[in-house]
Amino acid sequence: MTEESRKLKREHARLVREKQKIEREIEELKKGQSKPRCGLCGKTENLTRTECCGNWICDDEGKYVLFSYATNSCHRNHRRYTLCGCHYANDHKGRWQDCPDCRDFKTEMYVWYGTNEYNFEKLDNPPSFRPTFCHSCHKRIRLGTDGYSLSPDGNYFCESCAERKFGRLV
Ligand SMILES: [Zn+2]
Ligand SMILES: [Zn+2]
Ligand SMILES: [Zn+2]
Ligand SMILES: [Zn+2]
Repeated sequence: MTEESRKLKREHARLVREKQKIEREIEELKKGQSKPRCGLCGKTENLTRTECCGNWICDDEGKYVLFSYATNSCHRNHRRYTLCGCHYANDHKGRWQDCPDCRDFKTEMYVWYGTNEYNFEKLDNPPSFRPTFCHSCHKRIRLGTDGYSLSPDGNYFCESCAERKFGRLV
C-alpha cells in the first residue's frame, strides 16, 4: 500500500466515525423531542400542564416554601408573574395578547409580565413605557425585578432609599 492510499484509508475511517457520531446525536435529539419537557426550564420529570395555556410545566408548587419569596417554581412563576397566568386567574375574556383588561397593569409591569422568562410565548411589540426612577436618588428601578417601595403619595423609592427613609423593609 502506498503512503497516499494509507492516508486516504485513515481519512475514510475518520469520516465514518464522524458520521456515526452525528447519527447518534440526531437519534438522541429525536428521543429528547418526543418526550414532554417543561417549556420554561426543560426538565422532563414530574410535569403537569398549565391550566391557563395547556403547556407542559414542572409540577413544582409543592416545593415552594411559604413566605420564602423564592422564585424557583416554574408553575408558580408562570401563574403569578405572567399575563397568561393573571389573565386566566382573573377570568378575562379572549386571548391575553390582546386583552384590554390586562392593560390595567402599569405599562412597565404589563411589559415585564408579558416578556419575562416565565412566558412560553412572549408579547409581540410590547408598548414603550416611561422607566421608573427612585424619587430620592433617581436610580432606575426595574419594577419587575428590583425591590422598591411605593409611598402613599405615589412615589417610588429604591430599596436602599426606602430603608433609609422608612426603616428596614419586611
Ligand atoms: Zn420547569
Ligand atoms: Zn399560561
Ligand atoms: Zn386579560
Ligand atoms: Zn434611591
